[in-house]
Amino acid sequence: MENKVKIIFATGNPHKLQEINDISKDSCVEFVLPPENFDPKEDGVTFAQNSYIKAKEAAMLSGAIALADDSGLCIDALNGEPGIYSARYAETAELRIKKVLDKLADESNRKAKFVCAMTLVDETGKILTQEIGECHGKITRFPSGVNGFGYDPIFEVDGYGVTMADMSEELKNTVSHRSIALNKILSYINTYLV
Ligand code: IMP
Repeated sequence: MENKVKIIFATGNPHKLQEINDISKDSCVEFVLPPENFDPKEDGVTFAQNSYIKAKEAAMLSGAIALADDSGLCIDALNGEPGIYSARYAETAELRIKKVLDKLADESNRKAKFVCAMTLVDETGKILTQEIGECHGKITRFPSGVNGFGYDPIFEVDGYGVTMADMSEELKNTVSHRSIALNKILSYINTYLV
């Protein structure tokens, strides 16, 4: 689509930006990185608060509308852990997966969900809309698959019988928490901003 509206996506991670732009490829929006000095202090206690902190910092630095996300894995039998600490649960992705599998051990209730909160703010940092996307599934007993990132190899999506890491990127982008939240944001943008 020609002449896309450019909106800042508050991340320092080009891979995440690519994923967001892949999900939005048929929309009228293209997301772009914030200024290089973007370095928010993520000290909120919910996904929604952290996404707001990131969006506000990006908007204030760039003087433009900004979108941010915050996401993680919530496991029922671990009282919602690792939750907002998903990225910091252990030092490496492998160790984070091992920690989850060790903590669950033989637990039969393996229900879990990925959650993604997204906040869209105007150029002054005022919230325009906030949306949540959830993807429900269960924690497998062993890792499987080579695609994706993070906890994908141990998260089996309800109704699919395979882990997120077994899915192609295209399929993951139709079921993921991030795509569910982003589609709600795109529909807000379409209705109110363009
Ligand atoms: P953040 O939203 O970039 O802060 O990501 C939080 C952490 O949650 C990531 O570092 C991953 O460990 C985990 N996470 C979030 N989304 C996904 C996903 O789609 N697949 C696997 N892990 C995820």
